[in-house]
Amino acid sequence: MHAVGIVAAAGSGLRLGADRPKALVQLGGRALVCWAVDALRAGGVSDVVVAVPAHEQAAFATVLPLDVRLVAGGETRTASVRAALAAVTDPFRPAPDAVLVHDAARPLTPPAVIGRVLDALQAGARAVVPVLPVVDTTVVVGDDGVVTDAVPRGPLRRVQTPQGFDRATLVSAYDAIDLLPPGDGAAFTDDAAVVRTSGIPVMTGEGDERAAKITVAHDLAVAELQVRT
Ligand code: C5P
Repeated sequence: MHAVGIVAAAGSGLRLGADRPKALVQLGGRALVCWAVDALRAGGVSDVVVAVPAHEQAAFATVLPLDVRLVAGGETRTASVRAALAAVTDPFRPAPDAVLVHDAARPLTPPAVIGRVLDALQAGARAVVPVLPVVDTTVVVGDDGVVTDAVPRGPLRRVQTPQGFDRATLVSAYDAIDLLPPGDGAAFTDDAAVVRTSGIPVMTGEGDERAAKITVAHDLAVAELQVRT
């Protein structure tokens, strides 16, 4: 099975309070995006396309290996992945069987997580996501800050990346969201949600706490501790 990796790295560093795109923020002396590309490669996915902010391509080219393809990302994560997906289906290269979509914001994803995603695809899954249980009590809060409901946490899962897809399934699902009424696609925060819109079952595999997403400064501090140990 030939799998290509997509790294979504075109987000801003706003919530992290960074003065540069989050994917260029340093962790253990290297940009987050470099860790994310290395994670995919350590897991067995060597052909990688990275979606980067359109005006920052030169900065990313400086830090990434030469054999990583860069594409200009979009305003939303969905637009960024769509741009990378177009590069994956480059007519001058053999079409891959599978695509793994990873967030640059999950730099320390262990190779075993990627291995489990690849195994599920190999076994016939059309879409698979790594997940972890929800350990906190989870509630619904109204606009006034008052709890209105409690959500049973048993069936809830936190979804990580990389998410794995049969390539043709992912491409058709992205094509299908073009047909949604304007605004309906704005809420997609991951690729599994895009695929589920087409009615494709999304399988789950075991995630890993070390694949945590870096969003705020505390997450980066925790990741710094991880790379030092
Ligand atoms: O903002 P958030 O951390 O949820 O973004 C998840 C991932 O999607 C990040 O790695 C970010 O760089 C990427 N992203 C993107 N294009 C955007 C917004 C986010 O590639 N327009």
